[in-house]
Amino acid sequence: MTDKALVDCCSAPGLLPFEQAMENMLALITPVKDVETISITSALNRILAENVISPINVPPHNNSAMDGYAFAASALSDNNRTLTLAGRSMAGAPFDGVCQQGQCIRIMTGAKMPTGCDSVEMQENCQVNGDQITFAQAKKLGSHVRNAGEDIAIGQTVFTKGHRITAVDLGMLASLGVEKINVVRKLKVALISTGDELKAPGQALSEGDIYESNAHFLSGLLAKLNIEVIDFGIIEDDKAAIENAFKQADALADAVISSGGVSVGDADYTKEVLESLGQIDFWKIAIKPGKPFAFGTLSNSVFFGLPGNPVSALVTAHQLALPALVKMQNAQAIKRVSIKVKTASDLKKSPGRLDFQRGVLSVNEQGETVVTSTGSQGSGILSSIAKANCYIVLEACRGKVAAGEMVNVELFDQYLQ
Ligand code: AMP
Ligand code: MG
Repeated sequence: MTDKALVDCCSAPGLLPFEQAMENMLALITPVKDVETISITSALNRILAENVISPINVPPHNNSAMDGYAFAASALSDNNRTLTLAGRSMAGAPFDGVCQQGQCIRIMTGAKMPTGCDSVEMQENCQVNGDQITFAQAKKLGSHVRNAGEDIAIGQTVFTKGHRITAVDLGMLASLGVEKINVVRKLKVALISTGDELKAPGQALSEGDIYESNAHFLSGLLAKLNIEVIDFGIIEDDKAAIENAFKQADALADAVISSGGVSVGDADYTKEVLESLGQIDFWKIAIKPGKPFAFGTLSNSVFFGLPGNPVSALVTAHQLALPALVKMQNAQAIKRVSIKVKTASDLKKSPGRLDFQRGVLSVNEQGETVVTSTGSQGSGILSSIAKANCYIVLEACRGKVAAGEMVNVELFDQYLQ
């Protein structure tokens, strides 16, 4: 970092610092309390409404980690390495007798350890001669035995309230014999796109039109959060149409997300309508992209007004709206991974705003982890984020950055991939 960038600061008159915007917004979010009981088969990405406590030991019994022979470690010595075969223990068909002094039991992987046995030798190290089994060597007590409860003990807290159920967790729950869980009800979010220039894919573009993209990536993002989307599509720039859409959205959804029409000097009615329907703040946040951002409450829902430019809409949705929705889901906050690496590209930047540039984190020929810019960072250039796997997060104070300087990189989480 240059000396100039260090001393240059940071105050951007009239702009709200990012952290302040986040704090103001989260303060107005009330987590959903309604709970429903569902089968684990439909639990992927749902949010636990309570801790899950293990009702059993996993594994439920001591069992063999190998195909081989079970025995008491005390029965083998350097002088005596031959035992008499007295039975079999198979997975699902345990040996129901007691292994006596001088005996061993044929055992398969996962089969219950027979009473009287505490160790297993793999079959590759045993010589079979009729019912006489000769072991290559004496074994340590407990060899190749998986103990009851060594994975999870009965009564142990396996998942905590607010945890989002992953694919792996479905297997964990099944392994505990848990069939149903209590989860927070699903959120409903309404999406509204405003702008007379917007057309849906499949429609023909007239002079000056563009294809609507924001509602499409927002739907994807919300689907990954397991939020039900109510898509109002593209609303024409007509006051009654906009008012009608916002009123309906507010009645049906927990949150309403619109894009476009929140910056100063917009030709459309979005701002005017929103001001009449609720308590909405129109912020200028000290971030780039995404300076114009509206947030507030309508009669029944909370409202996020994203900027229209696709990259600005995506970054503000991901950085601001998503943590707020996660809080509303009553879920544990998302932890994002940040690391400090060298930039391989020069990065354009003026002091004043926190910058979320898009980059690709990779390992160069020298084996160093470096970040490379995805190129032009215009707020309309959606490919700049499609090609990226991380944000290059440049502090508000900082000016332009030269290749070779250290920068903070925030890895894309599962919602952007
Ligand atoms: P606005 O915030 O309405 O002034 O829009 C800023 C820019 O984003 C304009 O170029 C719009 O055409 C574009 N834009 C607005 N909404 C969308 C959308 N849903 N999808 C793609 N581009 C949009
Ligand atoms: Mg517009």
